[in-house]
Amino acid sequence: MSDTPIYNRVAVIGLGLIGSSLCRRMKRDGLAAHVAGHARSAATRETSMALGFLDSVHESAADAVDDADLVVLCVPVGANAAVAEAIGPSLKSGATVTDVGSVKMAVIRDVGPHLPDGVHLVPGHPVAGTEHSGPESGFPELFEDRYCILTPAAGTDQKAVDRVSDLWQRAGSKVELLDAHHHDRVLGITSHLPHLIAYTIVGTASDLEHQLRREDTENGDLIETREVIKYSAGGFRDFTRIAASDPVMWRDIFLNNREAVLELLGRFVEDLTALQRSIRWGEGDALEDFFTRTRAVRRDVIDMKQAGSFNPTEREEE
Ligand code: NAP
Repeated sequence: MSDTPIYNRVAVIGLGLIGSSLCRRMKRDGLAAHVAGHARSAATRETSMALGFLDSVHESAADAVDDADLVVLCVPVGANAAVAEAIGPSLKSGATVTDVGSVKMAVIRDVGPHLPDGVHLVPGHPVAGTEHSGPESGFPELFEDRYCILTPAAGTDQKAVDRVSDLWQRAGSKVELLDAHHHDRVLGITSHLPHLIAYTIVGTASDLEHQLRREDTENGDLIETREVIKYSAGGFRDFTRIAASDPVMWRDIFLNNREAVLELLGRFVEDLTALQRSIRWGEGDALEDFFTRTRAVRRDVIDMKQAGSFNPTEREEE
């Protein structure tokens, strides 16, 4: 693989987990001659410069994209339209705009109309992440051996697609091309539904804990035992990690992949009801068959090398 920069100037808008990880990788491996950044708060901009993963930081997104060959939108999906509107007039002809959003149809809908003629849109989604947010949480190996899905519309300039693909490959990813609508359905199954279930389990368990809370007295002091937290190693703690993911990011994902998530949720509720019935009627064989099938899925995930972690905090890709 070549070690020359792929782009002369890259502008990264949004300097949180994903944006800062990409900046770190670009700086470490010389993937861009200049990395310019923008985040909405002064605190994030200052921290990003201090952490050393940018060549320049800009108070306005429009200034950051000035003369950029590639612009990478790394903000929550719901912020894309306003950012695209702000940067549209400053984009140079021949530039490419890409993004990292977890939903793709909404990005095409929200960003596309603001791009001038001669600017290429190559939507992307690195299927890699953790439950942490902000510029400090990024690390250059985040994308290593993870898939990055690109969803360009038919007819998109092939050279622009190839360059974005090259960038992600040199950032460590395996690049796949998918239709945007198909992407949203598949990720609805592999990511959005599991997150919704984790949010529900943790919320419900927390409510139940209040009902179960045991009160004891010792030397006259009231002792409250938080049993759900205390015994969380029984499985609950894995859900708490997923349910600790950024609330704004996940609000935007559900609001912007509404149809796919609602359809999947209907199917999930049906399957849950079938399990409920098996438990009620003591159908042990049905339960065992089902759990045997799901155990095999874990094996497949491990075999496809999608179970590993580079981060000391286990990472949960979405
Ligand atoms: P993050 O750590 O919370 O960072 C978000 C960044 O966007 C921050 O720099 C924030 O600036 C900026 N921002 C937020 N709202 C903005 C607005 N209205 N205008 C301008 N800037 C704004 O988020 P992240 O985890 O990197 O996620 C970014 C994107 O990556 C999301 O679209 C998400 O769907 C996608 N993604 C996330 C993961 C994951 O696991 N986290 C994985 C794959 C894809 P301030 O710091 O100044 O507030």
